[in-house]
Amino acid sequence: MSRKPIIVGNWKMHNDVAQTRQLLGDLHARLGGIAEVDVGVAPPFTSLMLASELLADNRILLSAQNVHYAEEGAFTGEISPKMLASIGVDMVIVGHSERRQFFAESDEMINLKIKAALSSGLMVIVCVGETLEEREAGRTMQRVGSQVRSALAGVDAADMRKVVLAYEPIWAIGTGRTATPAQAQAVHEALRKEVEQLFDEGVAGRLRIQYGGSVKPSNAASLLSEPDIDGALVGGASLNAEDFEQIVLAARPWI
Ligand code: PEP
Repeated sequence: MSRKPIIVGNWKMHNDVAQTRQLLGDLHARLGGIAEVDVGVAPPFTSLMLASELLADNRILLSAQNVHYAEEGAFTGEISPKMLASIGVDMVIVGHSERRQFFAESDEMINLKIKAALSSGLMVIVCVGETLEEREAGRTMQRVGSQVRSALAGVDAADMRKVVLAYEPIWAIGTGRTATPAQAQAVHEALRKEVEQLFDEGVAGRLRIQYGGSVKPSNAASLLSEPDIDGALVGGASLNAEDFEQIVLAARPWI
């Protein structure tokens, strides 16, 4: 089954409003018309409104980096899925390892966020990944399998069309150390089997699974040419328009 590649830049806590204007202007010129690859950016909350206006007339998708699971309420400092949808945000990253690690997000909380975001019509990038210790102990699949099962518990098969899975080994995020294409492919293939067991072959076959962890222009093509790697979630390299463009171009199916 052929799946449209999806490359998303996670800007993390980088880029104020002026920097957002500059980078999006550059990305618009380079990638605004691209049709063969889904391209997205995830700026910080303070830049989402501006980004929504700047991206209104092109194909680049707009993602948030986090969301709360309630529609509204006494949750100081939080943003709801409905609020994101109301300003034209298309999707949200949920379960990033930095949120799990630094903000104590549990599997249960992540599951609530995913279901809430899907009910508001948002696409969701669901991140899973193992620590170095877990990998070395041979527990990678056990860890990511259980993250996927709990993340997707109670999600309707129909909503799975709006879900993208991101396999991000924690030891490869921001470290310059990338999983080899074979290591990443093995986990992606196993994740697709896990999703097939949870849903069915059709859902699993359609599901796009991104790799994330020090993706750069120099390693993107080899990762993206693996059969179960359908895109990339890019941190550091997404802050540079030229590098990000190179990664997107490496995902074009005919290359
Ligand atoms: C990420 O934050 O999702 C990520 C993969 O970061 P980096 O590309 O910098 O490793």
